[in-house]
Order: sequence, then structure tokens, then C-alpha cells
Amino acid sequence: MRKNIVAGNWKMNLDYEQGLSLFSEIVNMVKDEVVGDQEVVVCSPFIHLSSIAKLATAKVAVGAQNIHQADAGAYTGEVSASQVKSVGAAYVILGHSERRGYFGETDALLAEKVNTALKNELKPIFCIGETKDEREAGNFFDIIKTQLEQGVFHLSAEEFAKVVLAYEPVWAIGTGLTASPEQAQEVHAFIRATLAAKYGQELADATTILYGGSCNPSNAEDLFSQADIDGGLIGGASLKSRDFLSIVKAFNTK
Ligand code: PEP
Repeated sequence: MRKNIVAGNWKMNLDYEQGLSLFSEIVNMVKDEVVGDQEVVVCSPFIHLSSIAKLATAKVAVGAQNIHQADAGAYTGEVSASQVKSVGAAYVILGHSERRGYFGETDALLAEKVNTALKNELKPIFCIGETKDEREAGNFFDIIKTQLEQGVFHLSAEEFAKVVLAYEPVWAIGTGLTASPEQAQEVHAFIRATLAAKYGQELADATTILYGGSCNPSNAEDLFSQADIDGGLIGGASLKSRDFLSIVKAFNTK
């Protein structure tokens, strides 16, 4: 009914050659492991994109980690959605907590970036999630609902159908702390119910919702076995082909 996706986020790691060789390894290793309606996505730094996109397959797609909200122009150092699309990328991560936190990306800016991505036929992997303080304060459902309302709920149902969501509790990203399968499932079910209230049950059921935050070969299977977890957004463990492959395989047992 909905696509299962395991997406790697290389962040600002790997030089050009290292990235190419990791991507080739991933393509070779996963070719017999990606079953049914499952997709692997690798989101690399811009420098790798055009080269790895040439090696992409029907099972392994390529994505960027950011785009500028404008179509083109005098924005030194930035990269546009149409440029990313032109090299063959299919996805773009938007709303990652590192972009929100270190680069001050607000919900309003992210809504603009979502529009620009869709206009250029890039599928947003839109990240939402609460900080440690917000979890401890117990208002994380409100935080997540607001991120959805301000980041993507301006979209029509037809537009929203192209969006992949990623629930990434900020306290679990790169920290080694993972949300328990029950904690993650509770939030994923809340997100799906929120989508159903906005867009109807059918579209909510068709939406891929990934979990991200210290997902690794030893916890992936338990996380992916949850009813509303449709895959993962993987940071650190996507930099080692064997670990990434184990996470991809963890899905096959679902
Ligand atoms: C991420 O960057 O989206 C992420 C989930 O990182 P990590 O897996 O390293 O926690």
C-alpha cells in the first residue's frame, strides 16, 4: 500500500572518491535485497550527486540534503532544486534538525523549500521531531503537529502525496540514543492520525513515514516491525556499506 524506504544521509562526510566507491558498493550489495515496493535512497553532499546519480538504479535512488528556496539567482554558494533535479536526483531532505538548528531554517522557510522541491519534481523527505527538552516537557505531540501544519499542510492532497515524512527525535540523532520501538510507533501512529484528519485516511495510509535517530543494524528490525514505521532515515550507519545493507535487509523481515 505504501512504499518502504531506507534512506542514507551522508551529511558532510566522504570525499569524492570515497563517496563514489561507497555508492557503488551499496548498489551492488542491495541489488538482491530490495524486494517488492521497497526503495533505497542515498542523500549525498552536492559534490557527489551528479556522479552517483549516473549509477542509480530502479532500486537505489539519489537525493540531496538541501536546496535553496529560490528558482535561481544571486545566491552565492547555494544550489537550486532545478540544478539538483538536472543531475538525476529524485529526493531532497528538508527540515532536518541540523538545518533547523545550525542554519536557522524555520517552518515558514521550509514550507517555501517544499514548494520549490515539488515544483521541480523532487520528492521531499520532510523531517519533524522534538528536542530532548520538548520530550521531557511532554508537549512533543504539539510540536510535531505544528511542524506538519506549518511545513506541509498548505499542500493540496495531490502535492502531499509526493512527500515522504521522517520522524526524527532530535535527542536520538547522532547520539546513540534510539527511541524505543514503542516510543517511535506511538509518534508514527499520531502522525498518521494527524494526516488522516487533514487529508483523509486513504492518503494517510499511503504516506511513507520513516524513523530516524541512531538506527543501526541491531535495532532496525525491531523498529521496522512496528505497524506505522515504513523505513528509516539513517545517518552514521549509512557510511558503512555492511551496516547499511543490514538495515536494508532488516526491512525484508517485516
Ligand atoms: C540523521 O542524520 O538523519 C540521522 C538519523 O542520523 P543518525 O542515524 O546518525 O542518528
